[in-house]
Amino acid sequence: MRVKDFLDSLNENYTPTYIGETTLGTPIPMISKGSGESGRVLLIGATHARENITAPLLKALMDEYQGDYPVDCVPILNVDGVTLVTEGLNDIPLRVRDRMALLRVNGGSTDFSLWKANIRAVDLNVNCDANWGEGKGNLSYPSPSSYVGPCPFSEVESYAIKRLIDSTPYALVVCYHSKGEEVYYGFGSNHKYKAQAQRVANRLKYKLKRTPYSTGGIKDYFTLSTDRLGLTVEVGSDTLTHPIGLEHLDELKKRHSGIINLYAEIAKELWTKYDL
Ligand SMILES: [Zn+2]
Repeated sequence: MRVKDFLDSLNENYTPTYIGETTLGTPIPMISKGSGESGRVLLIGATHARENITAPLLKALMDEYQGDYPVDCVPILNVDGVTLVTEGLNDIPLRVRDRMALLRVNGGSTDFSLWKANIRAVDLNVNCDANWGEGKGNLSYPSPSSYVGPCPFSEVESYAIKRLIDSTPYALVVCYHSKGEEVYYGFGSNHKYKAQAQRVANRLKYKLKRTPYSTGGIKDYFTLSTDRLGLTVEVGSDTLTHPIGLEHLDELKKRHSGIINLYAEIAKELWTKYDL
């Protein structure tokens, strides 16, 4: 998948809005379907660079969705990181100093296929303001994964998501990652809405799990700041290796087909239950 081709493909069927820009200045697109302002669904893909199979997967699921219920989708949050994973360092416009720093963080290797972070070597899914820096495995220095950054929301990509979440009435936020065939919900000791999370897991035939040691994630921030349901969905069998190749896209599409309808159904139901 070439990132430019993917971004172009969004323009064919949608009129994307932009939630912000990446570190390298690429606008971060959001595509939307349905109408109405209350209790929207938000889907987020490719937060982790090597998990970029989630970008074409989410686009395919949005293409398929025909419902009226309002759904927003940011299919490729970490545009710079995905470019690094899929196309390497060569075509990325970086100063020599920054290029050398990235190579150093990557152990001197020009193979960035296992990179998860953004182009500043910050892991966007531990950079949010939800017990920031207290998670298991968090790192305090630049790294291909798990570096929490200098402060919460230090990164323009995670800040763009914060601004979106803070300013939009979302009933349900679902963050797509790979891999493991799991659905994670809750934050800290908050495990509300287990029944709804379980319905998603059952439908996908994935395992439902809690994330007691996870902090600073987008799901964590949404759950903590709104007290609503946030999910992390890990697509793809654990027997696959990172990054999951496009040859597996069809089987993932089949597994997830129709899931946005279920997200919409759950969002609608929860919106009447939330203490707004
Ligand atoms: Zn991930």
